[in-house]
Amino acid sequence: MRAVLLREIGGRPHLADVPEPTDVPPRTALLRVEAAGLCYRDLLVTQGKFPRARAPLILGHEYAGRVVRVGDGVEGLREGEFVTGLPHTTCGSCEFCLTARENLCVNKKWYGEEVPGVFAEYALVDASSLVRVPDGVQPSGAAISSCVVGMLVNALREVGGAKAGEVVVVTGAGGGVGIHAVQVAKALGCRVVAATRSEEKAGAIRSAGADHVVVGSGFSEEVRRVYGGADLVLEAVGEPTMAESIRSLKWGGRLVLVGNVTAGTFPLPLGLVILKGLSVLGSVGSTVRTMREALEMMARGQVRPVVREVRLEDHESAFEALREGRALGRFVFRPAS
Ligand SMILES: [Zn+2]
Ligand SMILES: [Zn+2]
Repeated sequence: MRAVLLREIGGRPHLADVPEPTDVPPRTALLRVEAAGLCYRDLLVTQGKFPRARAPLILGHEYAGRVVRVGDGVEGLREGEFVTGLPHTTCGSCEFCLTARENLCVNKKWYGEEVPGVFAEYALVDASSLVRVPDGVQPSGAAISSCVVGMLVNALREVGGAKAGEVVVVTGAGGGVGIHAVQVAKALGCRVVAATRSEEKAGAIRSAGADHVVVGSGFSEEVRRVYGGADLVLEAVGEPTMAESIRSLKWGGRLVLVGNVTAGTFPLPLGLVILKGLSVLGSVGSTVRTMREALEMMARGQVRPVVREVRLEDHESAFEALREGRALGRFVFRPAS
């Protein structure tokens, strides 16, 4: 089968012919991968920013596909069903799995890092997090229901406590995460200020529902002038925009960090955090519950996936656009369709 393979960490991925998985281990499902989202995390994996990743490796962790076969101990899944699931395996028995916080599972293994990924025609995935994709959700939308939309429901509402009427700033608002963050925040009833460096993406960000778009690297002044500061910042860029994000917050504001494109560090202004009573929070991944909610939001049309479908053959240009910040929304591969 065809797959996007990373032969060595630090190298460039390429299209390769690899053996199809044959054995399906217990509690596992073999899927025919119909859609697979390209995440900034995949790019960071190729750059060696995730030390647990071991090459050679099939990349990718965002998927939707049809069940081909299931292993022993899998119940409730039939051949041919169209499903999606979490971007990593879960153990089912740690304190986090037992309290429905699978995103924090201490024994999880990410696809495309520690176990083979989903940029391939077929993939083996942990059956425990698989859910049926509801009618009205396209394969590419289903593929981004956990690592993008479900992740954002978790970050904005569960971790950030976003409430209707609050002012939410989204950084990197034209990117794969940002443009969906704008929509999820609107679906939660928030007023959304979108920050982007890209003039070309401003129109699409407005169409996604942003109340206010600020183009350029400085956005805090405008957020404070127009809204008196943000209740919440959804920080999808990380280190490059952190200083402006913290300056945007009003007293008692919260910042939820979901991405860090440089993998670099940031000197937190401790005095400001204390005196203004700020909260700086990290959020990772999605739970099964927030992934289901994401699928429902898409089925109802509250969140419309902003995706560009690309062939596996064209992975190089997709990685390139992601690296250069030119990607609007999410690139989604269609390996087996
Ligand atoms: Zn992802
Ligand atoms: Zn666990």
